[in-house]
Amino acid sequence: MTDRSAPNRMKMLDDRTVRLDGPRLAPETVRGARAVRTVDLAAVAENWRALSARVAPARCAAVIKAGAYGIGRRDAKVLAEGLAAIGCDAFFVAAIDEAIALGPVANHADIFVLDGLIPDRANEYMAGIQPVLSTRAQIEAWAHHCKALGARKPAAVHIDTGMSRLGLTPEEIPSIAERTDLFEAFALSLVVSHPACADDLANPMTAEQLARFNALRAKLPTAPASFANSAAIFHGPEYHLDLVRPGISLYGARAVNDVPNPMQPAVGLHGRILQVRTIPFGASVGYGARFVAQRDTRVATIATGYADGYERALGNAPKADRPRVWIAGQPAPIVGRVSMDLITADVTDIPDGDVSEGDWAELFGVNQSVDDLADICGTIGYELLTGIGTRAARVGWTVEGDQLYSLEG
Ligand SMILES: *Cc1c(COP(=O)(O)O)cnc(C)c1O
Repeated sequence: MTDRSAPNRMKMLDDRTVRLDGPRLAPETVRGARAVRTVDLAAVAENWRALSARVAPARCAAVIKAGAYGIGRRDAKVLAEGLAAIGCDAFFVAAIDEAIALGPVANHADIFVLDGLIPDRANEYMAGIQPVLSTRAQIEAWAHHCKALGARKPAAVHIDTGMSRLGLTPEEIPSIAERTDLFEAFALSLVVSHPACADDLANPMTAEQLARFNALRAKLPTAPASFANSAAIFHGPEYHLDLVRPGISLYGARAVNDVPNPMQPAVGLHGRILQVRTIPFGASVGYGARFVAQRDTRVATIATGYADGYERALGNAPKADRPRVWIAGQPAPIVGRVSMDLITADVTDIPDGDVSEGDWAELFGVNQSVDDLADICGTIGYELLTGIGTRAARVGWTVEGDQLYSLEG
């Protein structure tokens, strides 16, 4: 997973630094940072391999929209290159600009743009980049574009089977299917639909949507089909069709509720401890003085706040639900409100020698999953991952053979 054209970008790390759950991140890679998001590209690769094996002979794509779910635009490119190197040949992004930013990922990769065809930009869908057409007008415009070029360029078509979000409606498909002139003008590369409730294995809607999808796509010219996001992959092989589109599972977060998550965590957020102090019984912490010490309390102030994606709703939860940070492998509950730039943790129960100014606290990652945090503040891992602010420096791990490298922050 190494970009050989830029060897200087990679810097070998010693063994000690490879552990994402370690109390200290490698000093040379995080020097000067106040917060760090760690991206274990090797874990993403392993997650892709595991999903790919599960769905074979279906093709396993990788959804890398939103900077690969918040790991960053530059990392999304590195990640796509790495996944291409281990056999992934289809990628999904939301925006045409995300597709262009990937550059030539691999000679034969398909890069699907879920937004569809953005008016006036048809010429920019090239070299594997293709729209997922979701309306009659987009199909007509793409056919027109291809005719004008004299080339049957590829495009996917999105069918709505219950999201009511993007895609042709069931009602309009028969009349569109009659327009053989349109489908002769371009190469129909994939027919796509998206499940609404696949995170719940017991919800019958997923099977209903699949049945609707299979009936509707039979009316269109024959093409490979794709239905499954991460969650639908776990519903069984009939959902895999020709190609699956996992996103969240690649990054290790939870796709299906109420069952163990088999994926490896790949993304973490760590904040630097800026100050440690002891406050007496009765002293308060943070805005609104919402936490009041019930004993002499050691408080660590950590350089991460809601501007870094640590949601404000995580502050001042009832005692039993308090999110924790992990310092030197030990948990410490968050106390007081989350500020824009800072959070505060009760580190009274961590031995003095294990918590010092300059140390790192894990906010989510290996010890506390992003999903556990999301549950506490009433959101989903997706939102926390994609909300990690750009203020946090990046540290990515990648593998070549059995060597580990870091990506420069
Ligand atoms: C985002 C997205 C996916 C990936 O969904 P996950 O739940 O992250 O696996 C797949 N298909 C479409 C159309 C999407 O918008």
